[in-house]
Amino acid sequence: MPEQAHYQRSPLRRRPERRLLAVCAVTLAGTALLLALVLGEVYRQAVRQAEVDAGHLVDIIEERLGSTLRRLHADLEYLAVSLPLEAFAAGGGNRWQPAVERQLALQAARFPEIIGFRVLDGAGLLRYDSQSGRAPIAASERDYFLALRDDPALSLHFSPVLVGRNNERPLLIVSVPVRDAKGDLRGVVMAPLDLGNLQSVFDATRLGERGVLILQRSDNGHLLLRQPPLPEGLNRPLADNPIQQRLDAGEQAGSIRLRGPADGVERQYAYHRVGGYPLYVVAGIAAEDYLANWRMLVAAVGLSALLLILALSLVLIRLLRAEREEAATGARLAESEARYRLLADNSHDVIWTLDIASRRLSYVSPSVSALRGYTPEEAVGQALEQWLTADSASRLRGEIERHLKRIAAGDRSALVVTCELEQLCRDGAGVPTEVVASYLFDAEGVPRLMLGISRDVSERKQAEQALRESNRQLQLRLDEIGRLQVALQEQAVRDGLTGLHNRRYLDGILEREVSRARREGSPLSLVMLDIDHFKRVNDTYGHQAGDEVLRVLAATLQADIRAEDTACRYGGEEFLVLLPNMPLTAAIERAEGWRRAVETLTVEHGGVAVTCTISLGVAAYPEHGTTPDDLTRCADLALYRAKAAGRNRVLAYAG
Ligand code: GH3
Ligand code: MG
Ligand code: MG
Repeated sequence: MPEQAHYQRSPLRRRPERRLLAVCAVTLAGTALLLALVLGEVYRQAVRQAEVDAGHLVDIIEERLGSTLRRLHADLEYLAVSLPLEAFAAGGGNRWQPAVERQLALQAARFPEIIGFRVLDGAGLLRYDSQSGRAPIAASERDYFLALRDDPALSLHFSPVLVGRNNERPLLIVSVPVRDAKGDLRGVVMAPLDLGNLQSVFDATRLGERGVLILQRSDNGHLLLRQPPLPEGLNRPLADNPIQQRLDAGEQAGSIRLRGPADGVERQYAYHRVGGYPLYVVAGIAAEDYLANWRMLVAAVGLSALLLILALSLVLIRLLRAEREEAATGARLAESEARYRLLADNSHDVIWTLDIASRRLSYVSPSVSALRGYTPEEAVGQALEQWLTADSASRLRGEIERHLKRIAAGDRSALVVTCELEQLCRDGAGVPTEVVASYLFDAEGVPRLMLGISRDVSERKQAEQALRESNRQLQLRLDEIGRLQVALQEQAVRDGLTGLHNRRYLDGILEREVSRARREGSPLSLVMLDIDHFKRVNDTYGHQAGDEVLRVLAATLQADIRAEDTACRYGGEEFLVLLPNMPLTAAIERAEGWRRAVETLTVEHGGVAVTCTISLGVAAYPEHGTTPDDLTRCADLALYRAKAAGRNRVLAYAG
């Protein structure tokens, strides 16, 4: 079985599919990896940007708030040390009041962020106010007073956030102590810092939908200011605040990503302690905001990737299907080729292909060995002259050229060649073959090959020859039989002794001639004659002499009648002559002529001269009769009368 007969798909056939799948998988994986890297980088950049933005913001706010606090702190310190202790003594206030309050007013005028300076005495009573005329306050129970009084080491105090009575702006009271040489509290210089400006900055800052800005205390963690506002959280610490923990650990600034302790929103936070003060600023940008673009990008990339995968899958499916179809077609082709090869290899006939351009055999099936004595390998490559006898080679060459011209002219009937060719055997002998071939075309429609089948017809040729010979013999026999038949027919209607027609023949011809005479209206005569006293001839000279007389008489009659006349032996020594187209008178004349001829006739037999006479009766159509019977009867009767009248005479029928 040839190699092509394996129809099942081998692993080799499947390998291109796997390679295609692998290439696609690697391409997809590579693309996915690249996209993941890009998206990861974009993500990191978004986080970094949020971190930078929040960091910048807290740096700016810290800078601004820090500088305000440093100025305020310096002013408060300046007032605390510049006021003489006497100014805090009980009852001495009136003397110092104008000068101190003017100084306070001057100081306050340069400081728009504060709502004036106030000075308390050691009992917590308001002694001086930069805005004279305001209602006196008693601060002895206020936290800042108590804190400064109770802690001799405390040099600066920040109050919780208060809400201004008039304008509802948040206030932070900043106060410094005035102590004597012993360290006892003699008074307090304080200023309510208006946080409204900072609140405006907070409000104006855009940190996305869910961004947050916070001012918080670092010493107790209390919330001072927040955007968006959180009124119920003011002056309270936030539970579980990792930023607070970092500041407690000594950090000044930093960034962290976490869920907001107050609202649970995940944010990128930046924090910065404000100068050396127990305050810090926090800015937080919600992940949902700073990752919005990144998420849109992820969605877009994901969708694109999905579409790409879909498109690629479709292409892949098509490719695989096409590949499978191609493989199936290949298998079918191999199967069909194997089938035809099987046929070619096992065929008794020789199957071959001839390359038209070189006129050489390009394939020859194995049965060529039996036909020509060459192996297929030897036969392949043979030119027409090596393959065929000179006559057949030149015939086939001419045939191919004629066919190619007809094919070029579009004649489809020229596609098949049928002819008889004599092929050359290895030993130089010729073997007659019958060849049927057709032209095979290439993809451009040009005839490239002839595919043909040669069949050994030598046996058939011999059989044909034998058949032809036996046909010839048969024909000879048939001719012989024909001749014999003719002879037999002749014999049947001729008299053996005289060679004249016999009475049977006459019956037939008389019938036809009477019909013709009737049809054509032509005359017809009958002459019946009989040898006179013939018995005596026999008796005198013997029977053979009688026979000789009969033969000579017949020959005389036959020599004298026309071609259309018929003479026949009617009986023993009786004759009848049929004379078509001859009237009675002419017939009588002819009869008279024959009588005279016989009268003078001498027949030599056995050295003896025999003579005789004849009597003749004549009857004619239509005057004596219109039927064969009537006519013969009339002629016979006329003959009888001639005998009776003395013999050796002619008588026509009469009545
Ligand atoms: P007539 O003048 O009345 O005719 O007398 P005839 O003797 O001729 O007539 P007949 O009828 O009595 O005799 C005829 C004879 O012819 C009798 C017969 O022997 C002879 N004959 C008939 N056929 C043949 C034949 O084939 N050969 C020979 N030699 N004789 C024949
Ligand atoms: Mg007779
Ligand atoms: Mg007679």
